[in-house]
Amino acid sequence: MTGNDLDQLIQLFAKLPGLGPRSARRAVLALIKRRETLMAPLIRALQNTAERVKPCGACGNLDTQDPCAICRDPERDRSIICVVEGLGDLWALERSGACRGLYHVLGGTLSALDGVGPDELNIASLLARADPKEGVAEVILGLSATVDGQTTAHYVTERLMGRDIVISRFAHGVPIGGELDYLDDGTLTAALKARRPM
Ligand SMILES: [Zn+2]
Repeated sequence: MTGNDLDQLIQLFAKLPGLGPRSARRAVLALIKRRETLMAPLIRALQNTAERVKPCGACGNLDTQDPCAICRDPERDRSIICVVEGLGDLWALERSGACRGLYHVLGGTLSALDGVGPDELNIASLLARADPKEGVAEVILGLSATVDGQTTAHYVTERLMGRDIVISRFAHGVPIGGELDYLDDGTLTAALKARRPM
């Protein structure tokens, strides 16, 4: 490996969220020092992820299988769908164990400014899934407290109106939507428990 190759590797690592140039250099050094025990398994895991991971056709979660492990899990409460903006939110909720239902990843929020309309988000698939005849009784909107997040929440609520489904949202004052990740599990669980109707 020439110096240029190493530089390129460090630059690639530095593109990852949370890694600046200094931590990227440390990460690359650690990998080189632990070539067999760390670098080789990492290469295999990256390769596997690149080849096999795809969005779940039902909820939008990422998994090597479709439907994803959450959608396939017989222990989940299939009467509840928790709607989130992104995967980071889903993973944060999953880590906290706060939600025993299923999820639906919208892939963002409606935004007039950025030209994001309902067709750009996974809203049609949510409307198709949120069917009382399929046993769905509640849709929880875990969307951010931003203007766009709330616009999206109201849009989804309007579209679900008239169905025999409870529509609720997280307790107010909880920063969510890409920020769920920074909340501790207790706060997340409390926010979900204190949810209120739209
Ligand atoms: Zn799924």
